[in-house]
Amino acid sequence: MVAVKKTSDHSEKNNNSGKRNDFEKEVRELVEAGYPGVEKAILACEKCPLHESATNKVIGKGSCTPKVLFIGEAPGKNEDEKGIPFCGRAGKELDKMLEYMRLSEEDWAVINTLKCRPPENRNPKKSELEACKPFLSAQITLLDPKVIILLGNTAEKAYSPGKKLEWGVPEEINGRKVLKIYHPAALIYTRSRIETQHALIDKNRGLWE
Ligand code: URA
Repeated sequence: MVAVKKTSDHSEKNNNSGKRNDFEKEVRELVEAGYPGVEKAILACEKCPLHESATNKVIGKGSCTPKVLFIGEAPGKNEDEKGIPFCGRAGKELDKMLEYMRLSEEDWAVINTLKCRPPENRNPKKSELEACKPFLSAQITLLDPKVIILLGNTAEKAYSPGKKLEWGVPEEINGRKVLKIYHPAALIYTRSRIETQHALIDKNRGLWE
């Protein structure tokens, strides 16, 4: 089990202090339950309608003590069928990225903003991101990475709502080093972005090497 370290991953500003208190309480309880407790809570979750159409909840994969934690968007068809994140075409692209980053197995983990597949892979709704956010925050606290890599704009929206990051420019958010780079799926559709992605990775190697 992963050691619990108190951080402020769940303390972003929220105008509604009652809602914020409920959110913080939920995250605290999840963190206290440890990673197996978080997994159990995800499997039991019925907080938004997505659980009704999900074949499998998709929790995460990789090291339980990662240096780098990647945050993707949501499970696609393959992920929904297998219950494993990034196991389809985007996963193959992520594997190539991991190799380019020179990360070995124990160095990284990947989770998604949503644990259930949105129908037809549509973009996650704000209400779904909010419903799933306590799981995201608790996973981050428990995995306690050295750096968080947001894979695209949805991950950014979920992790730091209202705050835009520049591509490839690291920032400190909620007490953590955070970097936004392209989602692997965006590299499949626009191959010319691979070179740009490599440049973003090259200038940030110091974050994990
Ligand atoms: N895209 C994602 O963002 N996550 C997955 O798990 C698969 C594809």
